[in-house]
Amino acid sequence: MSNTAFISELFSSVQGEGLFAGRRQIFIRLMECNLDCQYCDTDFAMSAVGKCETAPGSGVSRDVNQPVSLPVVTSLVKEWLTRLPGAHHSISITGGEPLVSLATLAGWLPELGRLLPVHLETNGTLSQALRQVKPLLHHISMDIKLPSTSGIDRSLWEEHALFLREAYGISLAVKIVVSGRTTPEEIGQVTGLIRGVDGAIPLFIQPLSLTDGSVGIGAVTLLELQALAASRLSDVRVIPQMHRMLGAL
Ligand code: SF4
Repeated sequence: MSNTAFISELFSSVQGEGLFAGRRQIFIRLMECNLDCQYCDTDFAMSAVGKCETAPGSGVSRDVNQPVSLPVVTSLVKEWLTRLPGAHHSISITGGEPLVSLATLAGWLPELGRLLPVHLETNGTLSQALRQVKPLLHHISMDIKLPSTSGIDRSLWEEHALFLREAYGISLAVKIVVSGRTTPEEIGQVTGLIRGVDGAIPLFIQPLSLTDGSVGIGAVTLLELQALAASRLSDVRVIPQMHRMLGAL
């Protein structure tokens, strides 16, 4: 277990993806990731300082020295919860890939979970790490990385299958990022994985966000992919990244 972590950001915002889209959360963004997606917008450069919002939702940050300790994080979270009672739904642990920082999660989640429910945003590949912290989580949002959009040149299907089986049993949703290059075969793989565990697990189809603010898939193609997925799963939803539209973090 570790009492400290290298964080890139700590801030308050509206969740823009998945099951909690529209909910306000406190985001703790950890550094490091085990993948290298071509659409990634995370800066993995290890920095001597992390960024913490000075006031929740202000968009103005101050530097904090790395590594950041749990008491620093919890005192900030407690201050925000007092300042804005009822405003926050949960704490989102995101990255990077949070499960890379397993020792930190084991050290931090018990205390964070006493403040608010803990929501893990993960790339859905590190099933053994998940097993060790699953009892400390309240919700998991896992990605299934499609070759057509992630650009990752090795197959992740087996890792995702193991992760999905490990994650099942608590509140769980799956997200895929699609573009005009996404194929029906990929949707077939995804729906097959989910049906192999539970066809009622929600699947969120997220159009690829482009740097100019548009999305990388036409509406007709998007709806074709949705219809295919919905013919095999009971809860399929299409949601673009909402926080980008709001200009929020
Ligand atoms: S898994 Fe997420 S954080 Fe890691 S490279 Fe892919 S998009 Fe970036």
